Amino acid sequence: MDAIATPPARLVDRFEREVSYLRLSVTDRCDFRCVYCMAEDMTFLPREQVLSLEELFSVGSAFTELGVRKIRITGGEPLIRRNIMSLFQRLGQLPGLEQLALTTNGSQLTTMAAPLRDAGVNRINVSLDSLDPARFHRITRTGDLSKVLSGIESAVDAGFDSVKINAVILKGRNEDEIIDLVAYARNTGVDLCFIEEMPLGIIDEHDRALTYCSSDEIYDIVHGEYSLQPEEDTRGADTGGPARYYGMADSGSRIGFISPHSHNFCHLCNRVRLTAEGRLLLCLGNEHSADLKQVLRSNPDDTDALKHAIVAAMDLKPERHHFDLSAAPDIVRFMNMTGG
Ligand code: SAM
Ligand code: SF4
Repeated sequence: MDAIATPPARLVDRFEREVSYLRLSVTDRCDFRCVYCMAEDMTFLPREQVLSLEELFSVGSAFTELGVRKIRITGGEPLIRRNIMSLFQRLGQLPGLEQLALTTNGSQLTTMAAPLRDAGVNRINVSLDSLDPARFHRITRTGDLSKVLSGIESAVDAGFDSVKINAVILKGRNEDEIIDLVAYARNTGVDLCFIEEMPLGIIDEHDRALTYCSSDEIYDIVHGEYSLQPEEDTRGADTGGPARYYGMADSGSRIGFISPHSHNFCHLCNRVRLTAEGRLLLCLGNEHSADLKQVLRSNPDDTDALKHAIVAAMDLKPERHHFDLSAAPDIVRFMNMTGG
């Protein structure tokens, strides 16, 4: 057998970064319309353009055979996709997969948290930007805060290895809730990660240059109230990516910062993303991609063709991204397409 016929057991890009983490967007649809993520009036993909659950499983399986050890299911809102639990159950059985994670808006978690845990999901991130019901509704445009809070409680009760809250802080919108969100995380016994808003998709709801709140500003506010101690390994076995984490002496909760603008961690990047329509994105902030849907649909049942396409795509992974909030976004795809 020649070398081309045997895909390697690990994925390495041109800059010697090993790709061990896949983020799989299972739908572009969502029951929320968060102001930083979507326009109010969205057109979603026709269903036939979205990968089937079978195709999603094939991609997850091929990546695991190529050395990927962590898969995060995201979207859109993954938990509103019909029969999604069957995908979790199958991925949860993949040999070699060490972490099966989920990012969700929490709206369905009250009933789904325990079955997800049973299916093998071990880490769960829930987005929560406000603890005020009216404000939460304004930011998400449709969301019911009480359902999300009850979903987070169910997730804590279900005993995941990690439950983490993700909060996007926008000036003039929710920056006055930073300390309340930290207190909530401490009381609930979960981690909390602050994310800088990224210029993905054209939104008309606010000017991103005006609402941008840097991780450093948020850090100062939190540190003014709670003493934060940096964790030694910011990449940590579980984070494996661009978050910096801090502990607090009197609490098990950790505070993280994802800073795509102010602290660039591209040199440590270990991840790639698959959009709901099967485009493999090599970088969140660039358009380099490979069309895996085309490979899947023209070579059904040919795992090697899929694996070769994945290996070849590694050469497309750019060295880094550049975000500029003062200019029109270079990346016109919305975050729900990208798979945040
Ligand atoms: N619907 C799920 C949720 O909200 O968690 C999963 C998909 S959502 C796109 C994943 C994460 O991306 C969320 O934590 C959300 O806050 C974040 N996000 C969406 N648009 C963003 C943007 N423009 N900048 C930064 N984070 C964004
Ligand atoms: Fe939906 Fe998540 Fe985007 Fe909010 S951030 S609109 S919940 S996909």
